[in-house]
Amino acid sequence: MIKNIVVLLIVIAALTESIKTPAQVPASSQDKYLELPLGAIKPKGWLRHQLLIMAEGSSGHLDEVHPKIANDNGWLGGKGDNWEETPYWLDGAVPLAYLLDDPALKSKVLKYVNWTLDHQRPSGYFGPITKTERERGVQVSADQCDAGEDWWPKMVMLKVLQQYYTATGDSRVIPFMTRYFKYQLAVLDQCPIGKWTEWAASRGTDNEMIVQWLYTITKDPSLIKLAEKIESQSFTWSKWLGDRNWVMNAAAYQGNKDWMTRHAVNVGMALKAPAINYQRTNDDQYLKALKTGWNDIMLLHGLPMGIFSGDEDLHGNAPTQGVELCAIVESMFSMEKIIGITGDTQYMDALERMTFNALPTQTTDDYNMKQYFQIANQVQVSRGVFDFSLPFDREMTNVFGLRSGYTCCTSNMHQGWTKFASHLWYATPDGGVAALHYSPCEINTEIRGQEVTINEQTNYPFSDEVAFEIHVARDVKFPFVLRVPTWCEQATVRVNASVVKQSAGGEIITIDRTWKNGDKVTLSLPMKVTVSEWGRNSRAIERGPLVYALKLSERWEKGTDTTEGDYYSIYPTEEWNYGLLESALKQSANLAVNTKAVSDGFIWNREHAPVEIRVPAKKIPSWKAIDGVAHQPVTERFGAFRGAVDDKVEEIVLIPYGCTKVRIVAFPTVR
Ligand SMILES: [Zn+2]
Repeated sequence: MIKNIVVLLIVIAALTESIKTPAQVPASSQDKYLELPLGAIKPKGWLRHQLLIMAEGSSGHLDEVHPKIANDNGWLGGKGDNWEETPYWLDGAVPLAYLLDDPALKSKVLKYVNWTLDHQRPSGYFGPITKTERERGVQVSADQCDAGEDWWPKMVMLKVLQQYYTATGDSRVIPFMTRYFKYQLAVLDQCPIGKWTEWAASRGTDNEMIVQWLYTITKDPSLIKLAEKIESQSFTWSKWLGDRNWVMNAAAYQGNKDWMTRHAVNVGMALKAPAINYQRTNDDQYLKALKTGWNDIMLLHGLPMGIFSGDEDLHGNAPTQGVELCAIVESMFSMEKIIGITGDTQYMDALERMTFNALPTQTTDDYNMKQYFQIANQVQVSRGVFDFSLPFDREMTNVFGLRSGYTCCTSNMHQGWTKFASHLWYATPDGGVAALHYSPCEINTEIRGQEVTINEQTNYPFSDEVAFEIHVARDVKFPFVLRVPTWCEQATVRVNASVVKQSAGGEIITIDRTWKNGDKVTLSLPMKVTVSEWGRNSRAIERGPLVYALKLSERWEKGTDTTEGDYYSIYPTEEWNYGLLESALKQSANLAVNTKAVSDGFIWNREHAPVEIRVPAKKIPSWKAIDGVAHQPVTERFGAFRGAVDDKVEEIVLIPYGCTKVRIVAFPTVR
């Protein structure tokens, strides 16, 4: 209760808008949507279940099961991890604690937050005790900035603290950030952003993002100077994204030169760079650069599940390429920022696609294991080199394990679902609320001095109806904004059973009216089965926000690596070498769709997949995996494989991509 009062006081002081959020005022007052404080959105249904699994699994216990974080942690004053993995974990564990309102997890993450806030040096520097500090008994100061260490992990901890602040209004956070950013501005000429690692120079945008967020609160003009300084010392992502040479080079070259500029996690993080620059400068060129860059990336490197290849580098659009889990969760976070700043529905579609397709498949049902790289057409999960640009010596990048591959994803994967949940809704600058992504949840906020609760009931992304019920003590007028995904041909909105609007895909609907307690808003988004085209002239089946993949029974095999621990390989026990019947795809809207009830439990596996699509197909006997890689059969212009195929037409079953572990998603067609 005291925390709530503190939040409220900050709100009243900080905002003139009628919607009350503690910390999210747009930097240049043109952000299209404003983020809600952490905790305003409470996930329900399948999404809450997903978060509960995470809290019981690695997200809630990584400090106990992952030695790098567990042992003598640098972010608690020890000599252990003093780099990215602890902040990575907290970047997901902090929102998880507040989304679930979980006291045990809150007190766990608070230890790290408190240590960080309590051990800021008088100069403003923060973070684990540095090697020089230990050896020489000094403290990092502005005239001895080289006693400091890498700027990069602090960028992640700033994201943690920002979220923590919006949830709690803790009065220590703003002065802490103010002192740190004064320190940064004082020393960056002497100790530039890339002084210790190229990671920091490639990820400066994340630093700028928090600097500009603080500016919205304190309006200190030196923060804008600092953001410009960091931008000038960092990789020039905005330029590269707008200049098509960079993305073409990344498609053509896989060599060692400039690999940091093609590293998929860097790219995922960098997507927001033009938007962050736009937020500061109001220069439309940045929005054009973002659009050019995103379209180019997906054209040259895009995969059906809504993400670009990156194993570890951008690697073209063949369905045999992989993508690192960090690249997915970082791209999602970039989209969440881009959406708020630009309001552009293209990025809302992009976030939805990567979240509901690419994200769920790469972790185990208990959220205790992950794959470093998932493959689109993944016909086996095993040790191997595959088609990866960086397979590592132990060849563990494709198996499911807690510590397999590289452990950045082990620590970073927790921000995927949690931040998606905290960005389902935004506030609008004119005092309303916007439901931009749909999942079961409840939102509590204050509009024109009144507490407003909106209960969102839906089985989206599996079902096509989203129902909202508004709870208010007294009538209150505000705009209620809804997104119509681009895949939807015509959406219908009803208020208390009367149709109030019909809109085409890609539109934003605003219903501005006086709302009464118990008012119901229903959004219908009819889903049609469609066919999309992908790399190597392949075809994918889609329905609404989901992409569908071949349902295959799985055989799991446990293994142990002396260095990287326990892991699982997965093999299909059925044949996967099918081409889809061309004539059936021409009438894809007629394909049989079976849906079953969506429970509030776990849904992202083969057993619980709530939707099935049946497609006529024929086997291609010559399509076989070589070293685990199902290289795409050669097809002619229309996508058809013209070699020998089985005569027999079989009806194959497709389920949501996110429910599969082994699969084909990008199919050749056959006649
Ligand atoms: Zn990673």
